[in-house]
Amino acid sequence: MSNENKTIHEFDFSLICEYFSNVERQGPGSPEATIKALSFIDNLTSESRIVDLGCGTGGQTMTLAQNAPGQIMGIDLFPDFISIFNRNAHALGLSNRVQGIVGSMLEPLPFERETLDLIWTEGSIYNIGFERGVNEWRQYLKTNGYIAVSEASWFTEKCPDEIYNFWMAHYPEIDTIPNKVAQIQRAGYVPVATFILPENCWTEHYFAPCSRIQEAFLQKHSGDQTVKELIAGQRHEMALYQKYKEFYGYVFYIGKKI
Ligand code: SAH
Repeated sequence: MSNENKTIHEFDFSLICEYFSNVERQGPGSPEATIKALSFIDNLTSESRIVDLGCGTGGQTMTLAQNAPGQIMGIDLFPDFISIFNRNAHALGLSNRVQGIVGSMLEPLPFERETLDLIWTEGSIYNIGFERGVNEWRQYLKTNGYIAVSEASWFTEKCPDEIYNFWMAHYPEIDTIPNKVAQIQRAGYVPVATFILPENCWTEHYFAPCSRIQEAFLQKHSGDQTVKELIAGQRHEMALYQKYKEFYGYVFYIGKKI
């Protein structure tokens, strides 16, 4: 039974991976938002060591590399994403200082304590949970090093049941902005900046490219129930965003280790 489940699980994973390999981003964000977050971080030099956790195919990592000095390592669980990441870095002439490796953020990271200048993580920290991530990763940062993380957050104290229940089922750690800022502070960082990702980070940069590939993906896997469910889930998420976007979104949090 457990083997059967494992096979189905892995099959799902490879389909999700194939689907998201076709788009530049695997979560909400934009080059402008990445550059804005970067503008709050000072003291980076060509010696700086930067890590992008849950980097996906590296859309934001390449933006980071084009706008900040230093050595950048991307880490993601999916080998296919890392292959695309390294291909992109090479194509952009960045492979001398941008490298992707396969790894899990749920394991201890492959770094010594207090050796990193910046930990970047866009739309990925939910895999470990915001509070656990900001606490556990702090040890790898030098004093005065930064963490920059985008995270799903509530804009209001209360919201309609439908969207509340959706998030409780998918990521119950979603919380209000003041609560997330307090978690950053409690973890041993000065909260340096907080800003809400503009709507186009969802619509133009995430949902629209996904919408463009959905029909072709459905046709390629026609009759496949898992694919139908995957796409239906994505479309549901898009519809919910349109309906409830004043209640939640992604927020960039930038903290400085003290
Ligand atoms: N940062 C990218 C991808 C966000 S999607 C962007 O903004 O476009 C979330 C990413 O987390 C996916 O690429 C997924 O493969 C990765 N991921 C999931 N579980 C992980 C884990 N345990 N360790 C590292 N990466 C993980």
